[in-house]
Amino acid sequence: MLFSALAEAFKQIEAISSRAQMTARLAEIFRQAPDDAAILPYLLQGQLGPPYAAPDLGLDEQRIAQAIAAAASVSPDEVRRLYDQLGDLGLVAEHLLPSAPRPLPVQDVYTQLRQVATTVGVGAYVEKVSLFQDLLQRTGGQAARYLVRIAQGRLRLGVGDATLLDALSVAVVGSTSLRPRIARAYSLCSDLGLVASRLLTGGPDALDQIHPTPGRPVLPALAERLPSPAEIIRRLGRVIAEPKYDGLRLQAQKDGDRVWLFTRRLENVTHAFPEIVRAVRQQIIADQAILDGEAVGYDTRTGQFLPFQETARRRRKYRVEEMEARFPLRYYVFDLLYLDGQDCTPLPQRQRSERLRQIVREEPNGVISTTLQVETGDARELETFVAEMLRRGLEGAVVKRPDAPYHAGARQFSWVKLKREYREALADTFDLVVVGYFYGRGKRAKLGIGSLLGAVYAPDRDLFRTLSRVGAGLTDEEWLRLREMLDASRVATKPRRVDSEIVPDVWVEPRYVVEVIAGEITRSPQHTCGKVDRQPGYALRFPRVSRFRFDRRPEDATTENEVIEMYRMQSGHGAQANQRRNGDGS
Ligand code: AMP
Repeated sequence: MLFSALAEAFKQIEAISSRAQMTARLAEIFRQAPDDAAILPYLLQGQLGPPYAAPDLGLDEQRIAQAIAAAASVSPDEVRRLYDQLGDLGLVAEHLLPSAPRPLPVQDVYTQLRQVATTVGVGAYVEKVSLFQDLLQRTGGQAARYLVRIAQGRLRLGVGDATLLDALSVAVVGSTSLRPRIARAYSLCSDLGLVASRLLTGGPDALDQIHPTPGRPVLPALAERLPSPAEIIRRLGRVIAEPKYDGLRLQAQKDGDRVWLFTRRLENVTHAFPEIVRAVRQQIIADQAILDGEAVGYDTRTGQFLPFQETARRRRKYRVEEMEARFPLRYYVFDLLYLDGQDCTPLPQRQRSERLRQIVREEPNGVISTTLQVETGDARELETFVAEMLRRGLEGAVVKRPDAPYHAGARQFSWVKLKREYREALADTFDLVVVGYFYGRGKRAKLGIGSLLGAVYAPDRDLFRTLSRVGAGLTDEEWLRLREMLDASRVATKPRRVDSEIVPDVWVEPRYVVEVIAGEITRSPQHTCGKVDRQPGYALRFPRVSRFRFDRRPEDATTENEVIEMYRMQSGHGAQANQRRNGDGS
């Protein structure tokens, strides 16, 4: 496929508002260019690789403007003047640069973009700008517009992973019926380019050849929630209960001497946690392994765990050694996804846990430990376990079905979390994606931010639907910090994947997740979460931000169905809490 044809498709997709039409158009692109399937998913999302290995182009606005000026042989002042007039550097490039007579293939453009991204070191900017300038000259016109947007990280076609999965299915079988198989392959490798190329060149059976492999993250399994230990035992029967650590989800991977660490957002953070890397080499008795677990910081003097926010500070790139000395980590591993050539995800939980214990060399002061486990079919015993975990300062328990496989990338009832809130009758926490903010009044007007517009994720439609406006819970400093971050992803109009009837003062790209505590869920005509036809949606009463959860992807937010389910359980929940208070409940 030629890049100019892809740019034309970008333009068409921008004009499409229905998800079904977008899926159909994307499917057509895949059908037209099966040989480019390995890179098309990245480009459609404005990236240069899968999330765990997508290099940043590394050109700021000024350098991009410089490249445009050089490509068009005009002065930087001329570019600036046009930018003021058109308000978009992409349009400036399109205006100044005629379409090249010999269009470039998508593959060549991708290779050169990666070359720009991977040119680093002293004096790299000159080389980077010149490579990008050359690319602009060799494409020009509409293609230049989209290249500039990719360079700025502003392509924003609104193509989410879920939509791409559907489109791939439609491309191959004409309907979305292949989606579960494609999604399963994707969850094992986190690389849509790999999935697309295998599928389009080898057909559906080629998907079965995709297995977990060290070097590529597996999408983490997520936990559902239920209101009480009794409800858990009723639904799951016999369970394995583990402590719920409140730290940073980390997937550790090992292949011989090589080690990788990935977050829940699939970022490669190997460099940030040297003590875990060393411990994986020393304490994991296997040549190849993929482990799932939670890293928690602790205070060396008191031996107490640190709150999540403190642990999260360890994720940065700089002053790694200093951070290691101040906030050492323990890495609690609770699952085994791959062992010496074998995909363990289909094995039952109990078997995975046993194998995990066989390959972890527990040491008195070792960084890695396996989690404590208690197996029970008794609600009272489970209640006691959770109470003990809370007493120890942990977040609660994660309760697991012993016979369930590892559901990569999915939220299922094989894992159920029980947090402190279940004891506080109605309070519950929600992970909401910020899709906009309001300026606020009075004292807050000075901060330039008064409240947030928070949304849940609706996976079936790949949309973020609003649930609550949240104006409490943060300090002035935190509001300011948040505003700064949000302003960096501010957009002029409602983002394409956001479904909202409320119009905030500022729209932002759905990127940041915050945890919100609320008293109760109510029905509301204002919010779109759960809204069908003329039926009202749902909203939160007395919401306040309890903390930032920037370690989560927007797609990891609380889902629309979870809210509906929680609303349904709310009355039962209250009844049980009352029973407990009256001393007659289990
Ligand atoms: P939540 O973050 O409230 O959705 O709860 C699920 C999260 O709990 C997982 O993503 C893990 O990061 C964390 N977690 C802590 N301890 C465990 C455990 N023993 N098993 C599974 N997840 C755990």
